[in-house]
Amino acid sequence: MNRLGQRVALITGAARGIGQACAEVFAGEGAIVLATDVDVARVEAAAAAIGRGVIARELDVRDESHWRRVVAEAVAAHARIDILVNNAGITGFVPPMGPHDPEHASLEAWRAVHATNLEGVFLGCKHAIGAMKPPRGRGGSIVNISSRSGQVGISRAAAYASSKAGVRNHTKSVALYCAEMGYPIRCNSIHPGAILTPMWEPMLGDTPETREASIAVIASEVPLGRMGSPRDVAMMALYLASDESAYVTGAEFVIDGGILAGSAAAPRQ
Ligand code: NAP
Repeated sequence: MNRLGQRVALITGAARGIGQACAEVFAGEGAIVLATDVDVARVEAAAAAIGRGVIARELDVRDESHWRRVVAEAVAAHARIDILVNNAGITGFVPPMGPHDPEHASLEAWRAVHATNLEGVFLGCKHAIGAMKPPRGRGGSIVNISSRSGQVGISRAAAYASSKAGVRNHTKSVALYCAEMGYPIRCNSIHPGAILTPMWEPMLGDTPETREASIAVIASEVPLGRMGSPRDVAMMALYLASDESAYVTGAEFVIDGGILAGSAAAPRQ
């Protein structure tokens, strides 16, 4: 398979979960992968585990100087960037976890979630456009990982939902801007549902039994009957990164096993 042959792909938050799966799938399709993460030791380990020449770099998506450095290095080494997956994201649910509802969330917690999830995506798009647009680059594809939470409200994860809604909307602004400017750069968003990654661990309980029980409850609320896998999301990112989606921009793709297809209080037999 060579769906991304010799494309240069930069992926954020690639030390684990969905970002790591994207790195593995893209490398398997012939891309030159720059796997980046705020945790450099962990992304180096992830890149080594994947093999296939995956390059690991430190990149804190909140820090514009990191973006400047990593993009400049990529252009110097590979002449361009063809693909950016803005994947890094946080829920803010880290111990000691404060409230994340609209009434009690702290301004500090609200800003921290937006700094990574929304400002990080803004910075990534900004610097990728510069590296992708001709004559420096030859165009490209930006894939922003939003969430189903960007399409509905989440009462106890208000900052997360707001930040992901911002990603959904900014994706469309980037897509339209690039089209208006005549840049051959597409930009689309992916909206995963419940994907079993380390992000979920703080919410699953402390023992193997509570963890399994929590996963079973979540799975029972998914029409397809299971939590998604990181690879389920990576395969959509692959489609959007490749030329197979050449006529797709400003669009949103839900990968949630059917959760958003229905609604509560629906008639049942
Ligand atoms: P994950 O397992 O927690 O992995 C996210 C990675 O991003 C971690 O390695 C994390 O490092 C890194 N990261 C955090 N802050 C960063 C920063 N400022 N700069 C660079 N890297 C940073 O999460 P995931 O489940 O794979 O989620 C990936 C994306 O999908 C996120 O945007 C998430 O919101 C979105 N998503 C996930 C789900 C789901 O069910 N899993 C559903 C919808 C959307 P640290 O661990 O060191 O913080």
